[in-house]
Amino acid sequence: MSKDSLNRLRQDIETLDRKLLRLLNERAAVSLQIGEFKVRECLDVRDPWREQAVFEYLTRYNKGPLKAGEIEEIFRKIMSISRKIQSAASLSGSKHSVESADVDTSFAVTGKTALYGIIGNPVAQSMSPLMHNTAFRLLDINAIYLPFEVEDLPGALTGMKALNVKGASVTHPFKRQILGLIDDIDDTAAKIGAVNTLSFGKDGIQGTNTDWVGAVRCLETLLPIEGHTFVVIGAGGAARAVVFGITGKGGNVIVVNRSEEKGRALAEAFDCAFAPLSEIESVGGDCLVNTTPVGMYPKADEMPVPKRGLGAYKAVADVIYNPLETMLLKEAKATGCQVASGFHMFVYQGVEQFSIWTARMAPVKEMEAAVYERLSRT
Ligand code: NAP
Repeated sequence: MSKDSLNRLRQDIETLDRKLLRLLNERAAVSLQIGEFKVRECLDVRDPWREQAVFEYLTRYNKGPLKAGEIEEIFRKIMSISRKIQSAASLSGSKHSVESADVDTSFAVTGKTALYGIIGNPVAQSMSPLMHNTAFRLLDINAIYLPFEVEDLPGALTGMKALNVKGASVTHPFKRQILGLIDDIDDTAAKIGAVNTLSFGKDGIQGTNTDWVGAVRCLETLLPIEGHTFVVIGAGGAARAVVFGITGKGGNVIVVNRSEEKGRALAEAFDCAFAPLSEIESVGGDCLVNTTPVGMYPKADEMPVPKRGLGAYKAVADVIYNPLETMLLKEAKATGCQVASGFHMFVYQGVEQFSIWTARMAPVKEMEAAVYERLSRT
């Protein structure tokens, strides 16, 4: 290629860049209008299903040479900036800037910095540090939240007390094991039989459970709980929190589980009906809720129940949040059901923890946006 040809091509690129620049700014202006509309209507800035629909039509229209994955990468960035623009619209009038929604890396840990964390094993994948640190930075709270991968649970609790840790989240596999190791558990955690939140104070370590709050908030985006019937698949810790939340709000539950003994025990504890998983197709209700890990990354193509029969439900929810949309939710959506991802449950259990620890209103939208952004990239 001659130097002249190269210069001509570069001029072509410059012309195209100017067009792209104009189009990107036009898109940003429309996005801002949508943000203002969402503020007026009290709608969430983040709309995972809309974003998924955008990726789907872009893939359909794409004629190359860019590959579908490359287009998606570019548009994820564009959408992330759009969300920031829309958040700016929702924050206008508040003292926080959009940039402050991101974790402030210049934050200085001092002798007065309060320490919070999550104990579990593994914890490297946890989104809780991102979510809580986003909230601490946004509200200018001198605190930091760290992941602790724990082998020795009693040792970790003694160490946390000695180090003046203020609060902690508890995750797999310790939610039940911890029951006998702390000074006090409230009635909620006792009834659910699991603790996911610790507060350290002068009276020792107090345990409660906020997973049920997340579950209720998530299900209420689909349909009112009272008077509706929920078919809950699974009988582990997540199922216990979900069943506690639904029955507490006046909903009916049918527990469906692989192992009969565990399923029946959960159903009896909450005075519900039970059916074995092998008989799922003979069970009916308004909303199906998956609380098993089936369909979780990396086995994202698995489903806890066959897809035939999903159309009989008005709504389907999953406690799994990675992937954001599980195969179960994809199939349910295709049959016309309303769907909700475990993402909402996760964020709202964290929002409740944050309020317990700080007695402050949690910055929900920004916590949600931080986690959504990170999960969208994985
Ligand atoms: P768990 O206590 O181990 O219970 C798992 C349940 O799933 C058990 O009832 C088990 O049935 C059932 N199960 C597991 N593998 C199965 C399979 N292949 N087929 C059918 N059933 C199966 O686990 P967990 O703590 O409840 O957690 C479950 C899921 O919830 C995990 O993916 C976790 O990440 C998620 N979670 C999400 C949130 C959130 O905030 N979104 C909060 C908590 C948990 P058996 O009784 O027959 O063994």
